[in-house]
Amino acid sequence: MKIAVAKGDGIGPEIMDSVLHIFQANQVPLEYEFVEMGKWVFDKGYSNGMTPEAQQTIEELSILFKGPMETPKGKGVKSVNVTARKTWNTYANKRAFQTLHGVDTVFSKAGIPIDLTIVRENIEDTYGGIEHMLTHDVALSRRFITRPGSLQVIKYAFEMASKNGARRITCGHKANIMKITDGLFLEVFYEVAKEYPHLKADDVIVDDLCMKLVSRPNEFDVVVLTNLQGDIVSDLCAGLVGGLGFAPSANIGDHICIFEAVHGTAPDIAGKNIANPTALLLSGIAMLRHLGLMENAAVIENALLYTLESGVHTGDFGDRSIPSVNTTQFADAIIANLGKQPAHMARPILPNKPITPTSFKLEKNPLIMSKELENEIIVGVDMFIESAEQPSAVAEKCLLHTGDLFKLVTIANRGTQVWPKGSSFTNLVNQYSCRFESIGDAPVTQTDILELYKRLMTDFKICSSEILNMWGDKKAYSLAQGQ
Ligand code: NAD
Repeated sequence: MKIAVAKGDGIGPEIMDSVLHIFQANQVPLEYEFVEMGKWVFDKGYSNGMTPEAQQTIEELSILFKGPMETPKGKGVKSVNVTARKTWNTYANKRAFQTLHGVDTVFSKAGIPIDLTIVRENIEDTYGGIEHMLTHDVALSRRFITRPGSLQVIKYAFEMASKNGARRITCGHKANIMKITDGLFLEVFYEVAKEYPHLKADDVIVDDLCMKLVSRPNEFDVVVLTNLQGDIVSDLCAGLVGGLGFAPSANIGDHICIFEAVHGTAPDIAGKNIANPTALLLSGIAMLRHLGLMENAAVIENALLYTLESGVHTGDFGDRSIPSVNTTQFADAIIANLGKQPAHMARPILPNKPITPTSFKLEKNPLIMSKELENEIIVGVDMFIESAEQPSAVAEKCLLHTGDLFKLVTIANRGTQVWPKGSSFTNLVNQYSCRFESIGDAPVTQTDILELYKRLMTDFKICSSEILNMWGDKKAYSLAQGQ
């Protein structure tokens, strides 16, 4: 079977060569098609960081094994890593963290074993990078959390947890503050949980989760989170098991999967042949298992575990009293240990499954959508306006324009209510959100809102607006703080 390989930037080529060398020594039955992605591809003028040929090859082969890639700073281009995950809808980012004998951490020294998997949503959230300056002082990021997107990643997490005999699956979130977005993610989590009654499913607020992970990491098994929180929590977990050099990652989608290390291009040590290839090797081992190459995966993993146990280490970890080896020597040590059994956590050698290369041809983009409710109505609008006036002056002008259909309900500044009630201690920025609701929650039309917009325009610059929907008796918008 053939897979696409992109060596990446910085330490990418060094660690990828080491991993492929180990694969070759173990006669891994894979062929590689090397594709052009990364910083030098941006430099050639491809704004998404990959050549059209690379995109075509990856879409044909459906598996990409990649090294870290640099996002050029200040050129207005988006990260090729994020572009790849989003373009090919690899909705679940699975990152497994385990105690590795030979990699000392505070927990390994205390005899506390760690074996946890973070599943991070990989497409949505602030990673849409949809950002605007509303005024010279006010920046806005749009954070999309969708029901179908949450469903894809949460279903994957439950399915994976169930297959692996997990004890517990936990949703990390901040639904106490972000009641609508994280609230939706949490709601979907418990909906899916009903289909897996044999799994203990619970939730923890993300800040509490961080505290618990650094004090009692052995209590967790599978943790599923939204994109940004998952990104931060997974680096925290990398720290628990010895650092970024030990953090593998698999980006799983229905069609295309991407395997890569969590860490970046490590520009400070690039070209020196001293980087630790373990994270990329662990990612490669996860890829072999994903492809059904169970025997190769187990033999290589056992050789890696044996090598770590024996004290062989690169400069970034391990016993300082033992001299470190370079990247090539580390890979050679693993190759020399192929076939050996580690004393701890030896992987059972299961036979390889026959691999059937899959090639997907999609005629059109899949539309993932849940059923709409019948009784949806518009009951108002939030107008985000620019003004450096006091709240009472803003309210006075707004009240001139409400017309027969709308009432001015509240004015907030940075999410804090400043009218009709508020405190003179609240600092203001030059941008308000003014909530206009229909009188008696009567349905209004988009044209009614447009007319209100036109009237307000005579007094304000409107930076943005957001329709207030009502689904049955449920308000599909948050209340302003203090409302
Ligand atoms: P980094 O992960 O590259 O480096 C952080 C620190 O960890 C550095 O001190 C580095 O030397 C060390 N380190 C990382 N990997 C190591 C390894 N395998 N062996 C030994 N030490 C290692 O993070 P950064 O400096 O924030 O980012 C550098 C670049 O990498 C940026 O351009 C960033 O956009 C990119 N990046 C890419 C990916 C990816 O391709 N998936 C992920 C993260 C960052």
